[in-house]
Amino acid sequence: MPALIIGSGYGGAVTALRLAQAGIDCHIVEMGRDWTTPGSDGRIFTQTASPDQRGFWLRDRTKQPVSHFLGVSIDRNISKYTGILDAENMGAIHVYQGRGVGGGSLVNGGMAVTPKRSWFEQILPSVDANEMYNTFYPRANATLGVNNIDPAWFDSTEWYQFSRVGRKVAQRSGFATTFVPNVYDFNYMKQEAAGTVTKSALAGEVIFGNHHGKKSLPVTYLGQAAATGKVTISPLHRVTKVAPAAGSGYTVDIEQINETGGVVATKSVTADKVFFAAGSVGTSKLLVSMKAQGHLPNLAGAVGQEWGTNGNVMVARANHAWDTTGKNQSSIPTMGIDAWDTNGVFAEIAPFPAGAELWVSLYLAITKNPERASFQYNSSTGGVGLSWNQAQAQKSIDLAKVVFDKINKKEVTVYRSDMFGSNKVWNEGLTYHPLGGAVLNKATDNFGRLHGYPGLYVMDGALVPGNVGVNPFVTITALAERNIASIIASDL
Ligand code: FAD
Repeated sequence: MPALIIGSGYGGAVTALRLAQAGIDCHIVEMGRDWTTPGSDGRIFTQTASPDQRGFWLRDRTKQPVSHFLGVSIDRNISKYTGILDAENMGAIHVYQGRGVGGGSLVNGGMAVTPKRSWFEQILPSVDANEMYNTFYPRANATLGVNNIDPAWFDSTEWYQFSRVGRKVAQRSGFATTFVPNVYDFNYMKQEAAGTVTKSALAGEVIFGNHHGKKSLPVTYLGQAAATGKVTISPLHRVTKVAPAAGSGYTVDIEQINETGGVVATKSVTADKVFFAAGSVGTSKLLVSMKAQGHLPNLAGAVGQEWGTNGNVMVARANHAWDTTGKNQSSIPTMGIDAWDTNGVFAEIAPFPAGAELWVSLYLAITKNPERASFQYNSSTGGVGLSWNQAQAQKSIDLAKVVFDKINKKEVTVYRSDMFGSNKVWNEGLTYHPLGGAVLNKATDNFGRLHGYPGLYVMDGALVPGNVGVNPFVTITALAERNIASIIASDL
């Protein structure tokens, strides 16, 4: 086949659409399910409040990002299933990722943020920023269907009271706040509030999938790609090996799995071009193990390096009894505290849609944490580990603490210490934003071509070195747009 794409998240979806539009047939191999078929309860996705097996990727116990309430664990046993959200245990950190046709777009908060140009120029100095900000960011935003909340509605609806409280206390402490664009359709959300359509964001749906309202990749890039008739997808197929084929091209070994994760068939195909778009962790693990096992021995030494968490750390504050955050909260965040230039913190004011008044302000902070880790192949287990250790997350806490200590002091409020464990204020044990592992212009050339292997490319979050300063998917999409345009022009 002409082109095989590993993974159907942002990098993979952009690649498929643009290759197909250039007349090239391509095939996407995706290890997760195709999330289009309802279960026996009539729902495609599980309930947010009490997720069943559909919520998690091959786990026998849920692993909720906000794991406790009043210090008591809310996790419970489930049966192993190829569910939508992977809380992948990489030693000292759980890396959350979407699994299924659409990758992270199935589970994420939809926050579609273009980073500050000055920061972008620092992290990816080899990329022409003019071209990115004039052509590729606008192209990504348009194709992703990014839209903005109506500020007047934001100011009046009960569903964003939690955000308004977050904005008020941040501003009183001298921090700027900013509206954050999203791929959730805010017109649909208004109709949800009016009671004229079925609720999704206003029914708490987000990290286990949205039945309505969200423009995830299956309705944007992948939908357009399918409409060309030149793209096919194999869900529940996992790539295990890529190696040069006899003659030309690459042989790709694939395991077909069932919905409980069992291998039902192994397959081998040959492709002229192979695009790694398995996400930062997925792509890094594949490349590091192919290099170590001698299947792609000439990959650059930079493969597996410069991985970071985007400085992610979660924290919650307790508001005063009179500062209600509302029992009704939209699951879609739409405001951030922008203290990046002053404090190295961009904090999303996150909802906690529990259906009851809890006086909680929850935040997911992105911090300027310079710590990086690398992936290593373990020859005794055949697996790939990550060197990240807990101490490396301390910098994220330190940066975020300056901001939230200031808010707490001004408001005379305290941190909640009952939501991430018993007596635990910071949740530094997870990331939603894994980045790096096959960094642009180091592990690859300046357009994602892997050194040493013509016809092999990296197209996903692995290209971005560890920290993009804001939520990452718009940057991953725009960079993929830039790289595939160059690859189509020169290599095909
Ligand atoms: P992914 O989207 O992760 O896609 C990779 C795909 O490859 C997956 O579908 C995976 O199943 C598949 N795959 C992996 N290995 C293999 C293999 N060996 N064989 C076959 N297939 C494979 N970002 C934002 O910008 N805004 C947000 O609001 C936001 N919220 C988030 C909330 C949550 C809960 C999570 C988990 C993430 C969030 N993110 C957000 C992050 C964002 O979703 C990711 O940065 C983005 O999805 C990464 O894109 P990608 O193309 O690199 O990889």
